[in-house]
Amino acid sequence: MAQLRSYIVGNWKMNGSAADVTVLQAIADAAAGHDGVDVGICPPATLIAAFASAAGPVQIGAQDCHAKASGAHTGNLSAAMIKAAGATYSIIGHSERRADQGESDADVNAKAQALQAAGMGAILCVGETLDERDSGNAIPIVTAQLAASLPDSADGDWLSVAYEPVWAIGTGRVPVAGDIAAMHAALRATLVERLGEAGKGVRILYGGSVNAGNAAEILALPDVGGALVGGASLKAESFVPIIEAALR
Ligand code: PEP
Repeated sequence: MAQLRSYIVGNWKMNGSAADVTVLQAIADAAAGHDGVDVGICPPATLIAAFASAAGPVQIGAQDCHAKASGAHTGNLSAAMIKAAGATYSIIGHSERRADQGESDADVNAKAQALQAAGMGAILCVGETLDERDSGNAIPIVTAQLAASLPDSADGDWLSVAYEPVWAIGTGRVPVAGDIAAMHAALRATLVERLGEAGKGVRILYGGSVNAGNAAEILALPDVGGALVGGASLKAESFVPIIEAALR
């Protein structure tokens, strides 16, 4: 199978304001000069519409969506709603939502199906806690998380996976290269076991303290198809070098 296009996505979490459209524009300018890589930004939902109209080649996504199309779900947004605002995909199953909102693998699976039904993409996050890493069982735990969160209908046309060790998010700590490679190989095997040939076309991103200094080494690892970036995506100066590292 041909090499998958690299995918570099920024997750702004609960950060940013309308004035930060200038940051998006600087990222869009850089992305326009690098058409070998897919670039995305997931701002807070309140900024999706404004960002979508200034995004150029940058794909604007949401950070979450509800599994249901409508109903009594105060504070939530459906896939159709984020699509109408201008998002073309959503992050789902981020560890901060799994922890803060108690989202289960079944919830994440339902959200993925809702996105697919709406004609949108999904970035499905999985990852182990530090205790799970220290127990030596990170690989079976994370592959089981993926298997339970992944719809049978998944393929790389609309779904990517992000491996994000919980203990690496926002901490400046990154797994050693061998551990990232081993996890990505195990996730690929799980995808192929479940989806057959289609499992080979799903991009597997790494996320957790990616920055301009470590991106090139991480992105060069086998089966690392891109990066999901939190803190370093908030400024063009720290995000653009990660995009450039994906081109090497
Ligand atoms: C994230 O939250 O998805 C993330 C990877 O954050 P950071 O890059 O800040 O560790």
